[in-house]
Amino acid sequence: MLGLMQDWPLLCHKVIDHAATYHGNREVVSRSVEGPIHRTNYIAIRNRSRQFAQRLERDGMREGDRIATMAWNTWRHLEAWYGITGIGAVYHTLNPRLFPQQIVWIMNDAEDRMLFVDLTFMPLIEKIAASVPSLEKIVVLTDRDHMPATALSNVVCYEDWLAEADGNFTWKAIDENSAAGMCYTSGTTGDPKGVLYSHRSNVLHAMASIFPDVIGMSSSDAMMPVVPFFHANGWGTALAAPMSGAKMVLPGPGMDGKSIYELLVSEGVTVTAAVPTVWLMLLQFLERENGSLPDLDRVFIGGSACPRAVIEAFQNKYGVKVRHGWGMTEMSPIGTVCVLNPDHANHSYEERLDVQSKQGQPFFTVEMKITDDENRELPRDGKTFGRLKVRGPAVAKGYYKGRGAEQFDEELWFDTGDVAHIDAFGYMQITDRSKDVIKSGGEWISSIELENLAVGHPDVAEAAVIGVAHPKWDERPLLVVVAKPDRNPTKADLLNYMDGKIAKWWMPDDVVFVDQIPHTATGKILKTELRQQMKDYKLP
Ligand code: ADP
Repeated sequence: MLGLMQDWPLLCHKVIDHAATYHGNREVVSRSVEGPIHRTNYIAIRNRSRQFAQRLERDGMREGDRIATMAWNTWRHLEAWYGITGIGAVYHTLNPRLFPQQIVWIMNDAEDRMLFVDLTFMPLIEKIAASVPSLEKIVVLTDRDHMPATALSNVVCYEDWLAEADGNFTWKAIDENSAAGMCYTSGTTGDPKGVLYSHRSNVLHAMASIFPDVIGMSSSDAMMPVVPFFHANGWGTALAAPMSGAKMVLPGPGMDGKSIYELLVSEGVTVTAAVPTVWLMLLQFLERENGSLPDLDRVFIGGSACPRAVIEAFQNKYGVKVRHGWGMTEMSPIGTVCVLNPDHANHSYEERLDVQSKQGQPFFTVEMKITDDENRELPRDGKTFGRLKVRGPAVAKGYYKGRGAEQFDEELWFDTGDVAHIDAFGYMQITDRSKDVIKSGGEWISSIELENLAVGHPDVAEAAVIGVAHPKWDERPLLVVVAKPDRNPTKADLLNYMDGKIAKWWMPDDVVFVDQIPHTATGKILKTELRQQMKDYKLP
């Protein structure tokens, strides 16, 4: 027997309608790309999003068309998200930090028809626009006074373009499973792959992210997403904040410690989210300037493992709660969050910090398990590590154009490519990427654990561990180190330092010193390239 409840489709634009109707005067404050602080509210955002949608249709854009944005977090970018999804088109957030040839590849793969771009990125777009034949029009997110001179012919000014519509527009009635947004993985291990969010997945992810034990948001909060909307679906914040009625504070291009600090304080931000490097910058600024964070209640940290020192500094020096999260573009993107709960009531200070360094538990809507290479589920003992697999309504069931099909199985489990262990309370800890884990004599060695240990040595600036071929053990760990300026640690120094802190058979077989380690555009160690550089290396 079926229930007798309504099929009320979960659509992105219903979120901004709700915000405008019930939290209409709540402010959306942005640091504009032009410079000044800009203030608006949810009523104005909703009205201008409708104008946007109407104007987009007049340009011939239709349901399913991919519309690119290359923009900082500002009110205009927010309008673009709702305007695009409001006609059933698909926002495609471009990461300007990728290499230009990668951006061209991605835009051609997505066949973007229009691009909304911030002033900052016009020089980049001028270089690549001709290589994207599908691109019909470029709209610069600014007003007439700030329009740049450009040699491109199909460029218009956003405020003029928008003013040509009056906003008398009804959102398109679309299926909740239709595509709403698109974001490509960064392509660390091959060509980037397109992830296609649906309206339904976006709305469900936003609802889950406002749970108290996830990011947590309410109408009393002021939320500042420092994470750019172009990084992994903006961690869902563009939907979650309006859904909860929280005030939004958008940092625009001001991503340095000082600019972020100014907005945190002047706008009374209570909750914020970004990757660890941003928080390291802020903490250095606070330290230097003797700053404080009186209003900030919690900070959501994810994207790469959060150093223990960051957790301690926020909690002990500034009285800010830390939410360490893990996720990926394919998961909309949040997958787990680490929040201490009554199970840890009797833990010592150090034990609590150990827990907080983990990536934490899934929240409702995410299922998670670890398996071996034969897909057998592994025990949750906090030691055994294996392939981390997930499923849920905001997890991808495939990539755009059918790429990467081997990562999805018939029971919907998505192989994240991460390697992790899970403890008895269900707290997960990432130990590696599956392509980086070192397979020695049939057992796995975590490259990340060895790297974390090595960077603890006072003379080490950066460390990477890769597996190199070994006749007996299959693979053995090689430690690659960049020394700090004017320091000259030896192989023996490092091995002595590591000895006793890990199992004997985990000890690197050799240490190589280099001037630099290759990185991806998002700042992660590029191990494919490092392995290539070390391909002629032979273990002693
Ligand atoms: P990008 O490579 O562009 O940053 P993603 O954000 O999708 O793309 O990257 C997801 C990956 O980042 C995860 O699969 C995982 O390897 C890593 N990651 C994310 N959060 C964490 C975390 N808290 N700790 C360790 N690794 C993390």
